[in-house]
Amino acid sequence: MSSVDFDICVIGGGVIGLAIAANLAKSSSVLLVEQHDAFGTETSSRNSEVIHAGLYYTPNSLKESLCLAGREALYTFCQQHDVPHQMIGKLIVAPDQDSPRLEALFQKALMLDIPIERLDQHALHEHEPNVSACEALFSPRSGIIDSHIYMLRLAQEAERLGATLTKYTKFDKASVNDSGWQVELTTSDGPYSLNCTTLINAAGLHAHDVALRCGTSLNDLPLLSFCRGRYFSYQGTNPFNHLIYPLPEANLTGLGIHATIDLGGQVRFGPDTEYLSTTNPAHLSYEIPSHLKLHFAKAIQGYFPKLQVEQLNPAYAGIRPKLHLASEIAADFHIARHDRKNTPPLLHLVGIESPGLTSSLAIGQYVTELLLPKN
Ligand SMILES: Cc1cc2nc3c(=O)[nH]c(=O)nc-3n(C[C@H](O)[C@H](O)[C@H](O)COP(=O)(O)OP(=O)(O)OC[C@H]3O[C@@H](n4cnc5c(N)ncnc54)[C@H](O)[C@@H]3O)c2cc1C
Repeated sequence: MSSVDFDICVIGGGVIGLAIAANLAKSSSVLLVEQHDAFGTETSSRNSEVIHAGLYYTPNSLKESLCLAGREALYTFCQQHDVPHQMIGKLIVAPDQDSPRLEALFQKALMLDIPIERLDQHALHEHEPNVSACEALFSPRSGIIDSHIYMLRLAQEAERLGATLTKYTKFDKASVNDSGWQVELTTSDGPYSLNCTTLINAAGLHAHDVALRCGTSLNDLPLLSFCRGRYFSYQGTNPFNHLIYPLPEANLTGLGIHATIDLGGQVRFGPDTEYLSTTNPAHLSYEIPSHLKLHFAKAIQGYFPKLQVEQLNPAYAGIRPKLHLASEIAADFHIARHDRKNTPPLLHLVGIESPGLTSSLAIGQYVTELLLPKN
């Protein structure tokens, strides 16, 4: 029988892999492998850094339950581990009176016990004199976070609990052996092989490819599409007191080109939604064409009429791993065990788009529960 080097190997050192490692390290020996020279340099560094309240998601979905649980866990973690954050609050603004979509979000918030306030035009003007809309919802438990410090703290916490986190280490493939999984890695010193009992795939945009390399058929996973979201930064003094969101896009393809404020007070607008024809992460481009500025300006002027096109500067882009097309109803996170009878535990996380950052700690807990021995 081959000896086991680690109980669990987590593939991917984005915010999800790090949160899983930190949770599992409480009870198991954990190795996390990340291919790049730093943690969280892919999607986890290319998002809005917003802590979502949980208003938007399909009832009873993982996105909904993990966002609600994750949001509260995240605020507590930030306080305990000195992660810069601010419960700044979010306004969702409607261009028309009596918007049924705004009403639906309001009712949802009430049903889920998410603090929410309805604002008429006058009250909205008091909150946000620079925003033009007919009515709005105010979500006071929405916030912003420094996602880089958050990931640093997650890594520190995982290591404090005994996990081994390695950078420059690429997962190549895994096969079943007599003690569990034999894992083949490429490290900066060359190929390396080790044994573990459980494999967890938290490889973000590469999760389908990693699943294939663990012997899972793509027929057993939801279909993947990539959807790019781009941001422009705003040149000027911050004109807002809160995050400003338009109504979300149909099927939750995106949340609409919104205004986020980072902890330094810098305003960014985005992301838009652009479905891509590739599902190969090696073919992704994060470029922002300059002609997009006009399209962004038009969308933003819908709620911030004072914006001048020249005040927008290309910032960055991120890619969503989507499990639905723009014409389809929003899909849920796919977080599931894929081990078959008599094979060692194997878990794939695919389609971890927004609200993945908000949900990360709850996802760590959920994964731990999925690994409890089956009856
Ligand atoms: C435009 C945009 C805006 C968003 N805004 C928000 C928001 O405001 N709030 C919110 O809650 N969520 C938001 N999200 C969602 C959030 O960013 C993601 O859910 C989260 O970052 C996903 O983290 P991850 O760890 O799954 O993926 P990643 O951060 O991509 O991490 C996966 C890691 O796996 C590594 N990896 C892959 N293959 C291998 C391999 N073979 N060997 C070793 N390592 C490997 C990669 O290098 C990568 O570091 C947004 C997402 C996007 C795209």
